[in-house]
Amino acid sequence: MRICEVCRKDFKDDNSRILECERCEAHHCAKCLKIEDELYDKLMQRNDFHWYCGGCESKVMQSIHLEEIEKKLVDFMSKVDYKMKTLEGNVYKKLAEMEEKMNERLKDTLPIRQ
Ligand SMILES: [Zn+2]
Ligand SMILES: [Zn+2]
Repeated sequence: MRICEVCRKDFKDDNSRILECERCEAHHCAKCLKIEDELYDKLMQRNDFHWYCGGCESKVMQSIHLEEIEKKLVDFMSKVDYKMKTLEGNVYKKLAEMEEKMNERLKDTLPIRQ
């Protein structure tokens, strides 16, 4: 049963143009939402189309926005952390390599010079 929250009309027909809120599952018909048939059909063809009723939209938008910012921040921080660690590791590795080479060269050259 799909009853429009606004006009309380019962839409039994599967082809009737009605949107279901993805959060509270309330139904709103296209007429009450003032969505033209053509636009409704176009929206329905999109896989990425999500609809939320007026009350839910602001809440959903808020939480999506915050989640995105948090995700980006965590992602960014982990990337920076990773880069720092690899950079640090590389520098230490290079230094150790250089020291080793220097020691080897010193060992080779010192006896000759002496
Ligand atoms: Zn309606
Ligand atoms: Zn809702």
